Amino acid sequence: MKQRKQILVVGLGYRTGVASANFLAKKGYAVTVCDIKSREELAPITQKLHSDVVVIAGHQDPCILSSGFDEIVLSPGVPQSIPLIQEAKNKRIPVISEIELAYRYGRSRIVGITGTDGKSTTTMLTAHCLKATGFDAHPCGNIGIPYVSIVDALQKDSVAVIELSSFQLETVDTFKPDIAILTNLTPDHLDRYHSLDDYFNAKMNITKNQDSSDYFIVNADDEFIATHLPALRAVQYSFSLYKEAHCMYKDGAIYCALDDKPQLIAKADRLKILGLHNVQNAMAAVLATLSLAKKLNREVNLHALEEALYSFEGLPHRIQMVGRYEGRAFINDSKATTVGAVIMALKSIQGGVILILGGRAKGDDYLRLKSFLKGKVKALVLIGETQDEFAVLFSDMPHVKAHSMEDALIKAMKLSAEGDTILLSPACASFDMYKNYEERGNDFIDVYHRLSRGQLRWM
Ligand code: ADP
Repeated sequence: MKQRKQILVVGLGYRTGVASANFLAKKGYAVTVCDIKSREELAPITQKLHSDVVVIAGHQDPCILSSGFDEIVLSPGVPQSIPLIQEAKNKRIPVISEIELAYRYGRSRIVGITGTDGKSTTTMLTAHCLKATGFDAHPCGNIGIPYVSIVDALQKDSVAVIELSSFQLETVDTFKPDIAILTNLTPDHLDRYHSLDDYFNAKMNITKNQDSSDYFIVNADDEFIATHLPALRAVQYSFSLYKEAHCMYKDGAIYCALDDKPQLIAKADRLKILGLHNVQNAMAAVLATLSLAKKLNREVNLHALEEALYSFEGLPHRIQMVGRYEGRAFINDSKATTVGAVIMALKSIQGGVILILGGRAKGDDYLRLKSFLKGKVKALVLIGETQDEFAVLFSDMPHVKAHSMEDALIKAMKLSAEGDTILLSPACASFDMYKNYEERGNDFIDVYHRLSRGQLRWM
């Protein structure tokens, strides 16, 4: 009798590892999961596993491989550099991501979205535009719904709109999206990549299997991309805020010209999502919708597309207006974990800003922030692990340290005046103080509510 194929899932994570293991177990594979966390720590997650899945808790040592696995599915949170994966590669055991796994079983059309910033917003907005124009679109991927958890439910004419991190793209093999979007590229995750080129190359895996029937949508304003983009097999469409492109921003409006003369698509001031970076995200979503329709020979109702752009509310924790108190606006941009995202937030806000900055460093070039702070940010309130480093880096401007979000908002109130904005846009990851960026953003919102209800004294 032929033995069942043995698969090892490395890293249980919160969602992706579990989803991959359950998917494979249901398909009849012999599945083992290993995770560096202890059995007790994993208990809430292992409960969700299919009963046939074997769990190895507490280590990820190469000796696990002695059971003779046929393939490894690597969760996005686990770097390829760990000894187990290096040894698997020596033994020529294929290592794939959950995206590659799901892709092998998928039948639907695919829009894949990657880049440093704007992935989630562009993913949700693209799915929103596709739905409004008659497609059966399903956002998934890095936004929190693993592709593997929905792939079996998608039909041939459905569209999976997948947010893809560079980690997920490192280990794709045959993955071939109909439409690929690269939003932008600035230094990020340099704690995990040797250089910006390595990071870029991981992201470019999104297009490596595309052919001339596919589309690659790219930001023409991004300097790094402009100087590094190789020749591609896919048809390339670009968007730009400043120059002629297939989709461009001119006189406050978005125009598109795929085959003929430019057509007005939407007025930028009617978008609910703020800032020029969101105009870029909107242009990427427009191009994705139009190019998928083109590939499938479908007409797009441009009025429906325009209305979809206007009705999109944006996502929480991204330049999210929380409310006003004592003449100050409170904006939660907890998802801004890169310098690029903070710059975008600062550009989107009128008037003076008190900026709450800091957390766990991700290897970004924080000095790049300096010129954008001048004349815009009245004072910095420094939180988290980077406090001391940032106090030195930004010593030439007013700054204070805060030991909690409550302390940060109280200090921000003292440093601000009516008409100012108190902005949480940390430029760093949240894991030094919180479980994730959502918890950090919710803490900011909670302290704001206590302040505005008079439950917290700040004077
Ligand atoms: P990602 O999923 O790539 O992290 P999000 O859409 O979640 O992107 O946005 C993350 C942060 O980046 C937010 O602070 C947001 O305001 C900012 N941002 C969104 N779109 C862009 C863009 N096109 N360029 C730069 N920053 C952006």
